[in-house]
Amino acid sequence: MALSEFALIERYFRGCGAERADVTLGIGDDAALMRVPPGCELVAAIDTLVEGVHFPPDSPPESIGHRALAVNLSDLAAMGARPAWALLALTLPQAEEAWLGGFATGLGELARTHEVALVGGDTTRGPLCISVQLLGFAPAGEVLTRGGARAGDVLFLSGTCGDAAAGLMLEQRRLTAPAEARGWLRERFLFPTPRVALGEQLRRFASACIDVSDGLLGDAGKLASASHVGAELAWNELPLSEPLVTLLGERHARELALTGGDDYELCFAVPPHNVARLFAQLPPQQWRYTRIGALRAAPGAVVVRDGTVMEFSHSGYEHFL
Ligand code: ADP
Ligand code: MG
Repeated sequence: MALSEFALIERYFRGCGAERADVTLGIGDDAALMRVPPGCELVAAIDTLVEGVHFPPDSPPESIGHRALAVNLSDLAAMGARPAWALLALTLPQAEEAWLGGFATGLGELARTHEVALVGGDTTRGPLCISVQLLGFAPAGEVLTRGGARAGDVLFLSGTCGDAAAGLMLEQRRLTAPAEARGWLRERFLFPTPRVALGEQLRRFASACIDVSDGLLGDAGKLASASHVGAELAWNELPLSEPLVTLLGERHARELALTGGDDYELCFAVPPHNVARLFAQLPPQQWRYTRIGALRAAPGAVVVRDGTVMEFSHSGYEHFL
C-alpha cells in the first residue's frame, strides 16, 4: 500500500471512535486492555461484511463503515447490553484515501453516538471485507437471550420492517420509486439505526429478544425455537412505513416486512403480567414499537390473517428475493 499501514491506522483509526476512561490501553500495542465494570458480564459479538455479498460493490464508504458497526450494535442491543469497545479487521484491495476517509467517518460517527471506543484491529490487503468485533457489558445474570420466552408471551417489534430490503433493491436498480420514498428507503438500508437504548431498557420487561437481520418471520421463528415455543404473527398488525406501502402496495409491503432482511429492528417477547408496566414505562409512541403477535405452544412461526393461518406461495416470496 502506498500509505504505510502505520500511517493509515494513525490517520484514520486512532481517535475514530469515542474516548473512554475504561480503556487502559488502546490502539498501538499488541493488544488492548479494557476494564469491565464490577458486577457485569462481558458481552461479545462479531460480524463480517463482504463486498458483493453483504453490500453492493461501490456502496458509499460512509455506509459500509456505518453498517459494519451497526450490525454489531444491533446484536448487543438484542442482548440488552451496553456497547463499549470495538475491534476492526479491515481487508482492503488498496489504501485509497478518499475511501478510507469516508469509511472512518461512517464508522466513527456511529461509534461516538454510542460511546464506543475503537481499541484495536488488523489491516491487510485483499478483496474488500470488514469484520467488526464489538464488546460491551450488562449486569451479570440479567442479559436478554433468545431463549427465555413462554407460550402466552406477547410479541413486539420495534420500528418497521421491509424497508431495508426495498432500499437494497432500489440501490441495485431492481426497483424504481419517486425521489422522496427512494431516498428514505435507501437510507434504511445504507444507514440502519440499531435500537441500543431500547434493548438496554428491555432487560426490565422482556423474556426474550432477537434482532431482525434476516427477515421478521424467520427471526421470530428463531426466538420461538430457542424458547421451545412457536410464534404467531398477526398479518394485519405488522407495522409498515408509509414509503414502503406507497411503493409496493399493502400486500407486497407486508410480504416484504415478513421476509426482507437488513432492518436491524428488535423483536421481543414480554410476559402478559409485564405488558401494562412496559406500556407505562416505555410508551410505545415514544419508543416506537408495536404488538405483532404472541408465542404459543405449537412449534414453528406462522402468520395469521382474520383467524386463519396464511399460506405463502413460493412465488410470492421469490418475487422479492
Ligand atoms: P501487530 O503486528 O501486533 O498485529 P499491527 O501493526 O497489525 O500490529 O497493528 C498495530 C496496532 O494498530 C495494534 O494496536 C492494532 O490493534 C491496531 N490496528 C491495526 N489495524 C487497525 C484498524 N484497522 N483499526 C484499528 N486499529 C488497528
Ligand atoms: Mg496485526
